[in-house]
Amino acid sequence: MQAYQEFLAETLIDAPTLQERIASLAEEINRDYADKHEDLLLICILRGALPFMVDLMRHITIPHQMDCMAISSYGVGKFQSSGNVRVTYDLQTNIAGKHVLLVEDIVDSGHTISHVLEMLKTRNPASLRVCSLLDKEERREVVVPIHYRGFSIPNRYVFGYGLDIDEYYRNLPFIGVVDLEKYQSPG
Ligand code: 5GP
Repeated sequence: MQAYQEFLAETLIDAPTLQERIASLAEEINRDYADKHEDLLLICILRGALPFMVDLMRHITIPHQMDCMAISSYGVGKFQSSGNVRVTYDLQTNIAGKHVLLVEDIVDSGHTISHVLEMLKTRNPASLRVCSLLDKEERREVVVPIHYRGFSIPNRYVFGYGLDIDEYYRNLPFIGVVDLEKYQSPG
């Protein structure tokens, strides 16, 4: 795999800015769910939301549970998602009667989160909300409610802090923009 410095067009959001915003999102969540604490369930959408979920949870002071689910989107190219969304790993928790907060890395076309919301609604949660670190509003194809939004970002392909480029560099503590002309795909 190529060194990321070779295709990093720019750092879009640096690590301190990410951490500061995540702490303030958690404060909002702490306030909003204060009177419902027993039933709060955070759901991490694997794999991209993992670092965000972990950092967010560290600032959530009310008692809560967590679970994970994995989704795959297929049928279109690497830099574009599609409406064909499939659950590849389902929740292990019964969400009926719980206040569910979906934690996502990025909402792009909106198909993934819209599909997950439709599916989870049928399981009768007490409430269902979305917390997304990033929002590429320009690319939206379906309307999705985002209750907690970290940052609105432009229509560029980003990586780092959970977001991958060919499954690499999810570990970086910042969000960078890929220069697609300089990036050489390993496969
Ligand atoms: P949507 O279904 O909203 O179009 O796409 C959501 C999913 O597409 C995200 O969870 C993420 O996996 C992927 N995605 C969308 N934009 C980007 C991006 O700029 N970088 C990376 N690494 N993944 C993205």
